[in-house]
Amino acid sequence: MNYIQTIENAGGILRGHFLLTSGRHSDTYMQCAKLFVHPAESEKLCKDLSLQLKEFNADIVVSPAIGGIIMGYEMARQLGVPNFFAERENGQMTLRRGFELKPTSRVIVVEDVVTTGGSVKEVIALVRALGAEPVAVASIVDRSAGAVDFGIPYRALLSVEVKSYEPNQCPLCKEGKTPPYKPGSRT
Ligand SMILES: [Zn+2]
Repeated sequence: MNYIQTIENAGGILRGHFLLTSGRHSDTYMQCAKLFVHPAESEKLCKDLSLQLKEFNADIVVSPAIGGIIMGYEMARQLGVPNFFAERENGQMTLRRGFELKPTSRVIVVEDVVTTGGSVKEVIALVRALGAEPVAVASIVDRSAGAVDFGIPYRALLSVEVKSYEPNQCPLCKEGKTPPYKPGSRT
């Protein structure tokens, strides 16, 4: 299975000339929510990834909302374990809705796309604070290209390095073909 092609076909990876929220320009843009548009394809991606996680003998999946919720569910299904999602309350990552971790729980933290890994690190800290053990992190895409260190094993289905440029150094602007475009905006 060609993972990049599968995600591109779903519209999860766009190629062109983009204006990022940071103001930088890029030739690649990720629409994270589109990774899971097609359930049959999502199932295959998560199944392949879950094979890399069996060795950790986890008994639960916990994922940060919102990005990790759908993937957390499918990963839990593939691993045959339950799943919770964590969410922010007053800026603090927390388990609400009656979700409770046992102190003996071995937890896999699941996120769709890891960029800086901030939300995942918060969930790891939350799991530890509740007395349980985070044993691994899993994502479909590692956009940090191996730069993020969670301090526990990390498995990603694919590594996608998104290069970005200051506008005055952008090779696409220098080519002068099309002006940069901001995906997801109407203007
Ligand atoms: Zn440009």
